[in-house]
Amino acid sequence: MNVDDIISYAELVHAEKANLQKGMNFGIGKSYSVFLMSVRKGAPYADQIDPSTGNLIYEGHDQHKTKECPDPKSVDQPLTTPRGSWTENGKFFRAAMDFKGGLRKRPELVKVYEKIANGIWCYKGFFELVDASIVSDGKRKVFKFYLKPVQKKRLGRTIELPHNRLIPTQVKLEVWKRDGGKCVECCSTKNLHYDHDIPFSKGGSSLTAMNVRLLCAKHNLEKSDKIMSLLPWVAIAGSFAEHLHKN
Ligand SMILES: [Zn+2]
Repeated sequence: MNVDDIISYAELVHAEKANLQKGMNFGIGKSYSVFLMSVRKGAPYADQIDPSTGNLIYEGHDQHKTKECPDPKSVDQPLTTPRGSWTENGKFFRAAMDFKGGLRKRPELVKVYEKIANGIWCYKGFFELVDASIVSDGKRKVFKFYLKPVQKKRLGRTIELPHNRLIPTQVKLEVWKRDGGKCVECCSTKNLHYDHDIPFSKGGSSLTAMNVRLLCAKHNLEKSDKIMSLLPWVAIAGSFAEHLHKN
C-alpha cells in the first residue's frame, strides 16, 4: 500500500489482519501500532495535521459509555481502566514518555489511516510517536499525542519524509467531491489513489486541489510509465541543447 491510497474499511481490515473497532490500537502489528483518525466535521476527536510541518496531533480517547458514565465527553480521558490496567491512552502515553526519557531507543511507530467518508479510508503512512501531553480542552483533561511522518525502511529504520509531500485533508475532501469518488480517466471506483498531476518530485504542489486528482491503480501506473519512458529523451534533448550551446 502507498501513502494516499484510498481503501474501503474491508481492505483496511484485510491489510492489518485485524478488526479495528477502536481508533487506537497499540502494538497491533508486529512492529507498529495503528491510529484511525478523522478531521471531518462532527468527528469524535480533535485530530489535526499541521499543513506546514506534516506533524500529526492525535487526541486520546474517551472512557466507554456506561451506566455510571453516561456522558464520556464530560469526564477526563482515562489513563488506566477501573481494574488498574493501561488503557490505549495509557499505553501510548507511556511509550511517548519512555522515548522522551531515554528508556526506549526508538519511538513507537504508528501507521495512520484517515476516514475520508463513510466506509472510505485513506492510508497516511507511518508516523513516529515523539511526545505526548495531558491538556485541558476547556471542560476536562484530554491526551494529545504528537507524531511526525516518516518513511519505514527495512530493519526498523526510518527516515524523515518531506512534509509537503502529504496532501492536506481539506484538499483531499475537495478532490474527492470534485472527482465524484472515481478515477478521472475511466470512472473506476476501485484501487483509487490521490495523484499529483505534476509529480511532487517535479515541483508539483500538494497544497491545492488543482494539482491533485483521483486515479485508479491502472491509470496511475500508466502515467508513471509515461513519465519514465520520457526521461531518457529529456536527458538526450538536454545534452543536445548543451552541445549546441557550447559550439
Ligand atoms: Zn482509471
